[in-house]
Order: sequence, then C-alpha cells, then structure tokens
Amino acid sequence: MEKSNGLRVILLPLPIQGCINPMIQLAKILHSRGFSITVIHTRFNAPKASSHPLFTFLEIPDGLSETETRTDDKTFLFTLLNRRCETPFLDCLAKLLISSDSETEEKKQRICCLIHDVGWTFTPSVTKSVKLPRLVLSTYTVSFFLNHFALPKLRREVSQDSEQDDLVQDFPPLREKDLVRLLEEKREYIEPYLNMMLEATKSSSGIIFMSSEDFNQDALPKAREDFKVPIFAIGTSYSNFPASSSSLFTQDETFIPWLDKQEDKSVVYVSFGSLATMTGPELIEIACGLRNSGQPFLLVVRVGLVKGTEWIEVIPEELKATFNEKGKIVKWAPQREVLKHRAIGGFLTHNGWNSVVESVCEGVPMICLPFIWDQFLNARLVCDIWRVGLHLEHRIERNEIESSIRSLFSGNEGEAVRERMRLLQEKVGRSVKENGSAYRSLESLIDHISSF
Ligand code: UDP
Repeated sequence: MEKSNGLRVILLPLPIQGCINPMIQLAKILHSRGFSITVIHTRFNAPKASSHPLFTFLEIPDGLSETETRTDDKTFLFTLLNRRCETPFLDCLAKLLISSDSETEEKKQRICCLIHDVGWTFTPSVTKSVKLPRLVLSTYTVSFFLNHFALPKLRREVSQDSEQDDLVQDFPPLREKDLVRLLEEKREYIEPYLNMMLEATKSSSGIIFMSSEDFNQDALPKAREDFKVPIFAIGTSYSNFPASSSSLFTQDETFIPWLDKQEDKSVVYVSFGSLATMTGPELIEIACGLRNSGQPFLLVVRVGLVKGTEWIEVIPEELKATFNEKGKIVKWAPQREVLKHRAIGGFLTHNGWNSVVESVCEGVPMICLPFIWDQFLNARLVCDIWRVGLHLEHRIERNEIESSIRSLFSGNEGEAVRERMRLLQEKVGRSVKENGSAYRSLESLIDHISSF
C-alpha cells in the first residue's frame, strides 16, 4: 500500500451483494493509492467489518422491518431505504466532518468526497448542505445505465405480447422480447425512482464505472455527452484484489478438493447470483440438463433461489443419486476463486454484471440465462456483441441445457466462442496495465478526487 495521502473518502454502498462487491473493490483500489476509507452502511445486509480491518465501518439505522427486507420488489426496497436513511446518514456525515475538523494537525485527514452507489438518490441535498463533493458509482454496465432511464417511456410503447427478435431501437442490443421480460416485474415505483437517480447523477461531480472501453466502446462517448460530468471507466482490475471477503453469504469451500481432481476446462460452473429466483420444476430441468450433458458440474443453489423451499428438496433423491461424483451442489461458492480454477470450462450464468465481468476476466465462456433487469442486456452483449457465450433464450428445458453445454464444450461453435473469449480476456487485461484505457481512467479519477 502507498503511504497515506491525508485524504479520506466516504463510501455508501447499496445493501445488495452485487453492489457491495464493486464498492469494496473500489475501496481496496483507493486504499492502495493512499486514501483512508470509511464505509457507511445500513444495518440491513451490513458488510462484514472484520474482513476489512484497514477500513472504518459505520452503521446507520435503516428502519426496515423483517417483512420489508424480504420484498421481491427491489425498487420498492430502495425507495424505502432512500426515505428512511437520509436523516441518519446526514447525522453520521455531519459528525464525521466535525470530528475530522477537530483532529490534531498530525492526525488530520481531510474528508475529500462521498462516493455512493447510484441507487442512493437522497444524497444531493445532504452533500450540498455539508458542502462535500459527491461521485456516483454505477454497478451497471455503461450502456444499461445510459439507456435504462428511458424504460418508463419504452414501457408505454412496447407491445406486451411481443416475442420478437428485433432490436429495441432506443436500447440496443436489447431485443423486443427481452424488453417485455425486463418490464414484467411489478415496478410502480420505477419512474419516480429513475428520475431521482438521473437528477442525482447529473448533479454529481462524476460517475465511476467498474468497466472499461473494451466492454462499452459506443456507450462511453454517449454517456459523456449525455451526463456532462467527468466519467471514469476504471476497468475490472479486480484480479489484484480478492473479492471473497465482501460476501454476505457463508461460502462453502468443501468442494475444492473435488474441483482439484477434475480435468482442465471440463467443469460447468452454474450460479444465478444473489437475487434471481426460479421455480422448482425449472431447477429440476437445469439439474437434469447438467447431468445429461456428461460434463462435471458445480451448481450453486442459494437459499431462496426456489421460493418457499428450504434448499434443494425439490430435486428428487433418485436424480441426485445419478450425479455420482460428477456433480456438486453448494449454497454459495467463492465465485471469483472458482472462475479462476483451471478445471472450469464454462459458466451457466444469470448475467449479473459482476458475474459477466468476473467471467471475462478469467476467460470463461458463458451460457446465458438472464432473469431480471440489466441481466437481459448483459446477456445480449455477451452473446450478440462480444460473441463469447451461447444464449438459452429462456428455454429452461433439460434438452436445451444439455445441448448448449455440449456445443460449448465440444462443438465447433464452442471452439470459436472460447477463442473469442480468450481474445476479449487479453484485451480487458491490457486495459488495466500501464497506459491502458482503464489504467489511465483510474489515474484521472485519483487526480480528480485529490483535487477536491
Ligand atoms: N457470488 C459469489 N458466490 C456465488 C454467487 C455469486 O461470490 O455463489 C458473487 C459473484 O462473484 C458476484 C456477486 O456475488 O460478485 C453477484 O453479483 P452479480 O452482479 O453477478 O449478480 P446479482 O447478485 O447482483 O444478481
């Protein structure tokens, strides 16, 4: 780590796994460049402070009831959080600023800015009142972030029974049928929430993306034009910093000796992230498809993946018995470490942005099965633009799963996909090296924050 530069950055992550991980990654990057870090977080889904002894963690009350934390409507959850956390956050921030002012000269650390997840929309008035510069971190890919503000308008225009492959004009490479699925979720709060997010972003001192030009060639210049604030695409330099320590779930590592015994690039890793849900019959189809493919597999079934179940009791014992030593099921895995493992040859994924980026960084080709929100766009980027994965087109049927695995692992198409993934991995790797685009963007972010 570099010597302290006398500056402290305050971070405010949104309390879901896919937002905590990139924020903690950013914290590690900034800390390695001499910044001190304070993470202000809600009681709900609080990150494990003991895993990050070099950072200061401060908890604020969020007022969420047990039932509210279990809602499926994330926009509703975030709207509640924004309403209830504004005052506690302001109190916490004001105290921090006062105590930093009263420090002795040699202990003094200037609080230079707040970096908050783009999902926190109450922040402009708070930081204005205490005169603190504010940057937003987008955990979405640039193109989704840029275009998703148009979703309420697109909702009014789209035909609900559209099953077309046509591109959505205002949201490429999303297709009409993706848009219909994306809009299926109940989202009565979405329009005001997106408007507040847009306002908070436009009035910020900059936007940070954990992404790079290689992922978003066309979207970045457009984002710069639309938002008119500095934009930093600092890349996916994640591999320098292990991610597992920011996990909200207990990780099972008991399968590692089994993984060690598998042949190079032979195992299918299957995970659907921290939010997606599916039905019991869908999980059974996936399990059968995996078994029938003949490839060894590691399947993550998060508690809650199949609603109303304890865990994997919906998978019949007779089916489990046929996995033999070919298949392992765990509740949560150290994903980054798994993707790095030489035995992993493919990733059947829900296409959360973190999962996509982690897969590219490790050069693992994907089979795409998006369920909600930005996952539909990410899957199209993977399959239609970078062409480093195969799309299941939401056909959660054993034969489809089996044949996509066979194509990826043994067909000509799979070979071409793997080769393109190798090239993309190299390109993305180069961008975080000295003078690469993400490297330069990180340098300008550091200069920007230091100038406040
Ligand atoms: N993850 C993990 N173990 C698992 C599944 C997921 O550590 O078994 C991590 C994964 O590495 C990623 C995050 O959880 O960093 C999930 O984020 P993503 O954006 O992919 O999906 P989300 O959970 O937001 O849907």
